[in-house]
Amino acid sequence: MSIRVTVWGENVHEHKNATVKSIYPTGMHTCIADALNHDAGITARTATLDQPEHGLTEAVLAETDVLTWWGHVAHGKVEDAIVERVQTRVLQGMGLIVLHSGHFAKIFKRLMGTSCALKWREVGERERLWVCNPGHPIAKGLPENIVLNNEEMYGEPFGIPDGETVFISWFEGGEVFRSGVTWTRGAGKVFYFRPGHETYPTYHNAEIQQVLRNAVHWAAPTGALWAKPHGAPNIKHPPEVIRTPDPNAKGDTAGGPGHK
Ligand code: ZN
Repeated sequence: MSIRVTVWGENVHEHKNATVKSIYPTGMHTCIADALNHDAGITARTATLDQPEHGLTEAVLAETDVLTWWGHVAHGKVEDAIVERVQTRVLQGMGLIVLHSGHFAKIFKRLMGTSCALKWREVGERERLWVCNPGHPIAKGLPENIVLNNEEMYGEPFGIPDGETVFISWFEGGEVFRSGVTWTRGAGKVFYFRPGHETYPTYHNAEIQQVLRNAVHWAAPTGALWAKPHGAPNIKHPPEVIRTPDPNAKGDTAGGPGHK
């Protein structure tokens, strides 16, 4: 069975900026979904901010193995209830790939628990994206580095918790940045991938598209989904009989099999 991906796009710049519209006439999300659908093992669909429930209904998320997220100017318009719903699914095991300016998305900041702040400069300089671990599944089939002739600069310090760094970028102006980092949250795998400023054709780049496909395969759930990640049940009937319960305990520890 192929991996079911939902490609979420804010889809705002595409309607307000002629340059973005010319590069991505049907939206960045469509370009990304098309790139993913080149892989016979992936079935990608799209969802956007303007749709009811931002296109991320319970039903859509229930059928999503991996969610990708591109947002920028409208992070604040994403409803908290939807963020909560996405977080729950990640903790249950859904993969999440956060792209470029998604570093400030509510869902990413919530999952990281840190500032997610960074430096930036937009002059269209060269970016050289180095593979740190050629053996990592997300780097499969890639050259030693990927060159993007025009990109926005993101620079360190990047306010993220420690994770596994798969890519580090060097920029023409001299800064460096952890451009590809992985974490797990609950049963879910999370990957942040930096390139993808809206006024450059980054998501048309074949090597960037390969990273996205690799990341989907890496982030897909591998085990059974955790049904209730937020639960904290009081287990009154343990699998073994507890023969020496503390008489002062308040947790009803004497309630095992064979006890009243
Ligand atoms: Zn940008």
